[in-house]
Amino acid sequence: MSIAESASARADAPFVEKTPEMIAATLRGDQPSLVGLTRAQLKDALASIGVPERELKMRVSQLWHWIYHRGARDFADMLNVSKHLRADLATRFTLDRPEVVSEQISVDGTRKWLIRMQPVGPHDKGAEIEAVYIPESDRGTLCVSSQVGCTLTCSFCHTGTQRLVRNLTAAEIAAQIVVARDRLGDWPGAVRPTDGLVPDADRAVSNIVLMGMGEPLYNFENVRDAMEVVTDGEGLSLSRRRITLSTSGVVPNIVRAGEEINSMLAISLHAVRDDLRNTLVPLNKKYPIKELLEACRNYPGLSNARRITFEYVMLKGVNDSDADARELVRLLKGIPAKINLIPFNPWPGTKYECSDWDRIEAFSEIVFRAGYASPVRTPRGRDILAACGQLKSETEKLRARARLMLETGIGAEGVYAAGAGEE
Ligand code: SAH
Ligand code: SF4
Repeated sequence: MSIAESASARADAPFVEKTPEMIAATLRGDQPSLVGLTRAQLKDALASIGVPERELKMRVSQLWHWIYHRGARDFADMLNVSKHLRADLATRFTLDRPEVVSEQISVDGTRKWLIRMQPVGPHDKGAEIEAVYIPESDRGTLCVSSQVGCTLTCSFCHTGTQRLVRNLTAAEIAAQIVVARDRLGDWPGAVRPTDGLVPDADRAVSNIVLMGMGEPLYNFENVRDAMEVVTDGEGLSLSRRRITLSTSGVVPNIVRAGEEINSMLAISLHAVRDDLRNTLVPLNKKYPIKELLEACRNYPGLSNARRITFEYVMLKGVNDSDADARELVRLLKGIPAKINLIPFNPWPGTKYECSDWDRIEAFSEIVFRAGYASPVRTPRGRDILAACGQLKSETEKLRARARLMLETGIGAEGVYAAGAGEE
């Protein structure tokens, strides 16, 4: 039994045993999980099982509290919900989380979870993504994925070698935080794990970065809705200032993100000239540096206290000269900015190398003397391929025909093997 399970298990809780029909219904998607849903979706779910309109708001509030404040895993625990409704809920829905297929703990305490989403059809095995937990002494940051794979093909990024399988739903994005809190005993009364590192703070998960697999601004609505769930003050209750969305530069959605998501923003810049950025971040051909920086200048609510972080991966002999550093400073003039230098994290098959340490220091010094804080991001979890840009799962894009076969259930056996990685 996991820590989280033991923490929420109640000896006196009535136990609803799942019948084979109920298990089959879950697999068919007829008995969906409520974990990760927005308030509006939760309301619809309750209305669909006949909860009267006049009760809906109150019932949503109750469920919200149990799911997102208490981390409940069993409807039977929801003692302020009537017995009758609890029984109804248990036959029609679950509180299942996406499955943690594996957990790796780095020598530095970083944890990487391979998470399998619930299957979307009878023959789907469930898409897999990775989420990473980075503990420090006084805070813990969860790096969340927004897509399975990525449509973009940044040449230095491991995720970029895995083609996009699909967007994650809002519930699947929000559920990553629930899963992390389960594993870290981060619910009221739950027990913290004794292995790895968990900060000595009220909350094990105090910050979120949308820096896992995928481009969050190409899954805009789902990311926005998930952040709505995560920031709700009666549930997971994370401040928007503790959420950082990183984008490779989807210009039309940057200002919109400021208006509708209102998180902190990080831009994967990585190069100061269009010709080089075109090769490192091919999206630059569509939205070149000038347009990108213009969108940044227009990001709502910018001030010295609310700066944009510019991420810059240090690639040996590629983008790490003194001239690059000086040009970086010139480009960012007038934008309230922080510069985050990221030592390149190698992955199997890459052609790049990380800049030497004295080169990173020299680069950092130029940036620092121009008045920017220029922290070098300490690589975390490199030994378990959990550092920036190292994430990738085995879930491969299926050919359209194979996917159709899967969805209709025709000849599903062997399709994974046949379709994996093909055009
Ligand atoms: N798709 C989004 C967010 C995910 S990547 C984006 O590109 O911004 C999070 C950060 O890690 C980005 O700045 C990305 O450029 C960087 N990154 C990718 N691969 C890396 C690698 N191998 N080493 C170091 N940083 C990397
Ligand atoms: Fe996608 Fe970001 Fe990786 Fe580029 S760096 S391939 S946008 S995940």
